[in-house]
Amino acid sequence: MRLLIEGAMVWDGSGARPFAGKVLIDGERIAAVAPQAENVSSDGAECLDAAGKFLMPGMVEGHAHLSFVDTPRGTWLGELPPEDHALLTMDAARRLLAAGFTSACSAAAAKIRLDVAVRDAINQGVIDGPRLLAASPELTVTGGLGDGRRLHLHQDSFGVAVDGPDEVRRMARLCLREGVDVIKLNISGELGTESAPAVAAMMTDAEVAAGVEAAHTAGRRVAAHARASDSVKRALRHGVDVIYHCDYADEEALDLLEAAKDRIFTGPAIGLTVSRLEGLRGDNTAEGRRWLERMTPQFEATCRVHHEMRRRGIRVVVGGDYGFAANPQGTNARDLEHFVTHFGFSPSEALQAATRTGGEIMRRGHELGLVRQGYLADLLLVDGDPLKDVRVLQDKKRLALIMKGGVRYAPCEGAPHVRRLH
Ligand SMILES: [Zn+2]
Repeated sequence: MRLLIEGAMVWDGSGARPFAGKVLIDGERIAAVAPQAENVSSDGAECLDAAGKFLMPGMVEGHAHLSFVDTPRGTWLGELPPEDHALLTMDAARRLLAAGFTSACSAAAAKIRLDVAVRDAINQGVIDGPRLLAASPELTVTGGLGDGRRLHLHQDSFGVAVDGPDEVRRMARLCLREGVDVIKLNISGELGTESAPAVAAMMTDAEVAAGVEAAHTAGRRVAAHARASDSVKRALRHGVDVIYHCDYADEEALDLLEAAKDRIFTGPAIGLTVSRLEGLRGDNTAEGRRWLERMTPQFEATCRVHHEMRRRGIRVVVGGDYGFAANPQGTNARDLEHFVTHFGFSPSEALQAATRTGGEIMRRGHELGLVRQGYLADLLLVDGDPLKDVRVLQDKKRLALIMKGGVRYAPCEGAPHVRRLH
């Protein structure tokens, strides 16, 4: 298949200004990118007139939870049988692709093989979905974020409780054996987990070190839930590759993040917080007001830290814990707006976080995340100019074409899915 997309404003993901140009796609890759006036030998290629449209790299969701299936509570995920859960995870993959995200780096699955099975089915062409790096469930300590059990009642959530370096190592190895690309460690606690506050580093040095050693020995990666400043430092000390949140990073933690900026990725995962705050502002119950009071300072801390991260040039990916009732799967493009509104990113910087940096977090920066000759043809053709207003990417009617590896998709009308055009 050869396709020549002509006349679009081409924004290549590098931060350079867009230009009126043409892009030739041959099979799964980009064969040529040229200004409109230049000649490109395109014998036999189908032509697509894209005049007035904006061509950019497909977006990358950097903090995906495809198996978080829009439930209000984590323990509802534990109640889902694996068969039902797998189908719903597959559905989330289709919705993410329909939202313009052609790749996703998972930040945890709710059961060990959910990401793995969906990743493999996507790679085999059995189901439609983004390129996916599959993650383990959230490895957490007893009482930590994701441990839904109570003494009088066995209930699973999205975490697997492991205590001590031996248990962390064993569970990490088990997940690696089952095929995950990423081991997730919940180093800090979380607002709402009463036994594990967000400002506390719950997982010990020895536990973090064991998880990282197991993953790195197998050539895989480690991502961490780390809100507390000490949890960020602990993650850095032991070589964690992706450090999410970082809300309470103090000056020392920020200096350490900056010193490691060529090695690590961060991501605020702000989408869930923003959606919850929006809901709480209209909630006049005592419980609602209490939550608003608790969440607001954390949100302010996140904003402060991410202004600083941007200033220091630390790599930040978009992706906001989509997959809860407050922020369902498929609404992920809202994250770019949050980067502009709350972290001081320009639209171009937010788009780069969603494309070029996204390609890097997929470990494929050499072939993913840019519109460049030789790169994989993961592209979005947009009816609108996201450099003027990133919110146009939230409107699926404006996604004229979604392409992944040269395969064309379009959003389905009236349903949150995609259909393959060829
Ligand atoms: Zn998450």
